[in-house]
Amino acid sequence: MATSLVTKPAAKGGSFLLESASPADVFTPADITDDQKLIGQTAEEFVVNEVLPHVKDLENKKAGLMPELVKKAGELGLMGGGVPEEYGGGGLDKISATVLTEKLSIYGGFAVTHGAHAGIGTLPIVYFGTEEQKKKYLPKLASGEWIGAYCLSEPQAGSDAQNSLTRAELNKEGTHYILNGQKMWITNGGFADLYVVFAKIDGEKFTAFLVERTFPGCKPGNEEHKMGIHGSSTTPVFLENCKVPKENLLHEIGRGHIVAFNILNSGRFTLGASAVGGSKFVLTTAAKYAKERKAFGKQIGDFGMMKEKLAEMAIQLYAVESMVYRSAGNMESAMTAAADSGDKIQTTMKTLEEYAIESSIAKVYGSEMLDFVVDEAVQIFGGYGFHEDYSVCRAYRDSRINRIFEGTNEINRMLIIQMLMKRAMGGQLALIPAAMKLADEILSGPSFEEAPEGVLADETRVVANAKKMFLQAAGGAVQKFRDKLADEQELIGALANVVMEIYAMESCLLRAQKAAAAKGEAASQVMIDATRVFISDAAERVEHESRRAIAAVHEGDMLTTQVAVLKRFAKRAAVNTIALRRNVAAAVQGQDRYPFEGR
Ligand SMILES: Cc1cc2nc3c(=O)[nH]c(=O)nc-3n(C[C@H](O)[C@H](O)[C@H](O)COP(=O)(O)OP(=O)(O)OC[C@H]3O[C@@H](n4cnc5c(N)ncnc54)[C@H](O)[C@@H]3O)c2cc1C
Repeated sequence: MATSLVTKPAAKGGSFLLESASPADVFTPADITDDQKLIGQTAEEFVVNEVLPHVKDLENKKAGLMPELVKKAGELGLMGGGVPEEYGGGGLDKISATVLTEKLSIYGGFAVTHGAHAGIGTLPIVYFGTEEQKKKYLPKLASGEWIGAYCLSEPQAGSDAQNSLTRAELNKEGTHYILNGQKMWITNGGFADLYVVFAKIDGEKFTAFLVERTFPGCKPGNEEHKMGIHGSSTTPVFLENCKVPKENLLHEIGRGHIVAFNILNSGRFTLGASAVGGSKFVLTTAAKYAKERKAFGKQIGDFGMMKEKLAEMAIQLYAVESMVYRSAGNMESAMTAAADSGDKIQTTMKTLEEYAIESSIAKVYGSEMLDFVVDEAVQIFGGYGFHEDYSVCRAYRDSRINRIFEGTNEINRMLIIQMLMKRAMGGQLALIPAAMKLADEILSGPSFEEAPEGVLADETRVVANAKKMFLQAAGGAVQKFRDKLADEQELIGALANVVMEIYAMESCLLRAQKAAAAKGEAASQVMIDATRVFISDAAERVEHESRRAIAAVHEGDMLTTQVAVLKRFAKRAAVNTIALRRNVAAAVQGQDRYPFEGR
């Protein structure tokens, strides 16, 4: 079992909006241990040596090939990271599991297969299974002998998952539930051995069941013709009087939503980690191509606009990587701190809930970053990027699904604000007192505040002011709309965007400051440059989104006053992002890869 060295007290979920963490307190990729790196190396080598050579066949859905690869990966311990050791899994800590996911995500088809199997297909049993269910199913799933799938969506019920029409009725003998209905878009559907199926008992009580493929009446349908991730299987699953033994009911009757939502929290974080792995590979591919391809007698990588693209791909990737590992560190610290105080599974569940906001951020920001990276990679490849013979073309198609599944990015944006409000109302997050304090501060006019000093001092101030902009905009929105805020979706979207930018900016900032403290400013200069560029651009987005929100809340003189206050918070020096991006591009081009790996 890999163990983590994370010992710092965990920051509370969502607390980044109110508190300023110290660089020493955040986990960064530089803190990944050698053991954890080894797990990543094994995963990466597996994909490069065992999966990539078969991409053509996988994309053509060669029968039996993907299950064979899953089994091979299982033999190496790559398919059961989240399964406790006593059931044959790796029992990995959160950092190791994050590294594992990242490094397995080079090829979209395999990444999705792994995520559906090892994440949403297996973890429901780890977290909610009875001892008998765990003993029966987990060893087979962890070894890859069996493949798992998760069946929540239906033709009429995707985002609105509880609008399920699949029914379950206990038979007369009281021995089996009889399931009827259709599940839709099921990843691994074509070859899974075990399906976690959600159905309503007597049409009312939403409940999870463990359905073996061989149970009578369980019928996977044909493969869907998708835009991308052709290497993965996606099918409907039909349940026609499907006989499921009573003991295969998972968790409790009527508590299916608890299973579904907790598992999705975990899946969302994992998707962020997966986006990091996928984009690193694409960046390497694009950087190499920019060196090989010539135009106007030069390497295209010598052109400023190409450099700018490579730099921005690396910078956005750096932001997501910084957020993902910071969150993983917090989750691991929380789990370690609670390890002696109760059941490990319960602790894990509580932790997933605690960091649900950060998990939704990882999902949304990660998937949108990956879409940006693959899009720019296609552009760097020019016409060849539009051709199926080139991997960036496939990566472009493969990326698009990430904004749709595990809760669409719209649903996750709403969740970010809903969860923040819930924590604020429940007293877990002192958002309301902070917004009130800020309102007093605004009324009393500008006050003297000590200016931050040291590395990235200006950016430290920019991030602190961005938090004020959020409190200003969110405070006004809550005051005006109160319990009707949920109806103001566009406003919620703008606020969620601000929250995400703050987490991204601060994660970059703290990582670069931590690196500078450890290795010196000169050795961390490129990371500092990347941080300055990211914060400069993100601060503009924060200002834009906050202004949009404020304009939707206030009017007349009050709006004029609020905009004047916003301008004060948004004041910042201009940064020469063109020059700084050139520095980052030079680092990418010098190594033909993402330049902050393990730093
Ligand atoms: C390749 C693939 C693999 C998948 N794998 C699985 C799997 O393994 N298991 C599984 O259970 N499901 C899976 N899904 C289903 C996936 O989770 C759903 O497609 C997704 O949740 C969206 O649901 P939907 O397609 O019904 O879209 P809808 O819910 O109809 O959404 C359509 C649009 O409306 C928006 N929308 C919906 N509700 C709201 C709202 N309240 N406010 C604002 N906007 C809203 C959405 O954001 C979206 O833009 C997969 C889907 C695909 C395409």
